[in-house]
Amino acid sequence: MKYPVFLRRYEMVATNKLPARYMITRSVPVSFDKGVSLEELWEMHHSGMEEYRLVLRSIDTGTYSLRPSISGPSLFDLKVAILEKMLESCCFCEHRCGINRKYNEKGYCRVGAVSRYASEFLHRGEEPELVPSHTIFFTGCVFSCAYCQNWDIATHPEKGKIADPMELARSIEIRRRQGARNVNFVTPTPHPHTVLNIIGNLSVNIPVIWNSNMYHSQEVKELLEGVVDMYLADLKYGNDRCAEKYSKVHDYMQVVTGNLTTAYSDAEILLRHLVLPGHLHCCTMPAVKWVAENIPHIRFNLMFQYNPHYLAHMYPEMNRQLTAEEMEKAMHMVISSGLEDVLF
Ligand code: SF4
Repeated sequence: MKYPVFLRRYEMVATNKLPARYMITRSVPVSFDKGVSLEELWEMHHSGMEEYRLVLRSIDTGTYSLRPSISGPSLFDLKVAILEKMLESCCFCEHRCGINRKYNEKGYCRVGAVSRYASEFLHRGEEPELVPSHTIFFTGCVFSCAYCQNWDIATHPEKGKIADPMELARSIEIRRRQGARNVNFVTPTPHPHTVLNIIGNLSVNIPVIWNSNMYHSQEVKELLEGVVDMYLADLKYGNDRCAEKYSKVHDYMQVVTGNLTTAYSDAEILLRHLVLPGHLHCCTMPAVKWVAENIPHIRFNLMFQYNPHYLAHMYPEMNRQLTAEEMEKAMHMVISSGLEDVLF
């Protein structure tokens, strides 16, 4: 299997030649008391991350080996502690509901403290360099896409099995032994506390994929550095108006491009753009242009699988499949953008 040029570190982790990022944050000792304020925990996190970046660089350049397991709390544990506190006034995504999910208050996504998942399996239908991919599909979502193909689990977070961190960590280890190249957390935005608790229980080396709409908050963005190896990221729209109309989210471009810019500097990106019918000039063109100008060294997947699911019939302009002409025009936009690693 030849891996894409811009997913080099992912390849090294998938083939066990380098440790996943979480193994490094788990090796950085940080002394903290869970009882202190959130501000104090963040201060410790900032200094711990400086050490993490030095260790990551040294390991990747071969000048240092991963420290054997440490006895006390680690930088990774500190991330988990911060997420647990954030749950009391939830700002996991830019809806920033501020509700206490520990008391089972529900915000925009309607997910409480407990995460649930609809399925976990070895997925063979993802991009070639990902398969087999151990995919864990969470329920609930922070978007309300009118054309959502997973609307049954996205709109009903109470469906599915309780995501027990220990149990899922064991299933990831089993899937790794069965040949999984990665663990692929799907729709993780309302669930970072659960995802990190799962990863914290892992005893194997495996690349972590954050398969997401990239609408997580600034705070979660900082916590994901040192945990996520690859962002399998959607860039759905090229402007805020369409995002508001079809997915009911505000400030889409600012939030998502901000998160993509950070992801570009601290991990690797496989970006998906699903071409929407009638949205070539308002969405595909500006999205492709932004990527080519700001995060050019990524793997880019131009997708034509749009189908008018769920409530698409309420939007006549979206109630159809793409035409051959639209597909051809979208391909031309990507080819002429200068992006080097494109999957059609
Ligand atoms: S994850 Fe986002 S939508 Fe859900 S409660 Fe938290 S801030 Fe609100």
